[in-house]
Amino acid sequence: MRRAIYPGSFDPVTNGHLDVIERARKLFDEVIVAVAHNDEKQPLFSLKERLDLLRETASKINNVRIVKFKGLLVNFAQAQKAGAVIRGLRAVSDFEFEFQMALMNRKLDAAVETIFLMPKEEYTYLSSRIVKEIARLGGDISSFVPTCVAKALNRKFTR
Ligand code: ADP
Repeated sequence: MRRAIYPGSFDPVTNGHLDVIERARKLFDEVIVAVAHNDEKQPLFSLKERLDLLRETASKINNVRIVKFKGLLVNFAQAQKAGAVIRGLRAVSDFEFEFQMALMNRKLDAAVETIFLMPKEEYTYLSSRIVKEIARLGGDISSFVPTCVAKALNRKFTR
């Protein structure tokens, strides 16, 4: 069983994340989308909201599982019997941080390989952060996120 973990904040899930999940699931028997429970990051959406939005969109995809995770990624990968970590690479700006993380994770556990996947070009400028900013300012985000996410963002910002 070739199993990969795709970790992230997913605050909220965007079409860019879904593009990466779709690519990863073709390469692995199972992809575990691991939503980080990280108190430091102060997300807009609670952990439960982020899980629910992912489940509404990505759990329909065959061989994809959505779970929450806390703690060290390599420990989680071991517990899930996953040999690979998937990360998305959008631009050179992602590279430095991702490179550092990948090599550190390798140092912590040489058995876990990090694999970078590039999304469709039209998603290379997309991030949860920028989508939240556009939604907050009342812009149209319908082409960047699934419908349920667009609705959830509108609810957050029209309160
Ligand atoms: P994190 O807080 O771990 O960066 P994110 O939810 O922002 O969590 O991102 C999770 C992963 O998805 C990261 O590897 C990030 O580079 C990738 N990613 C985010 N948006 C996109 C996108 N539009 N295209 C491809 N990869 C993306």
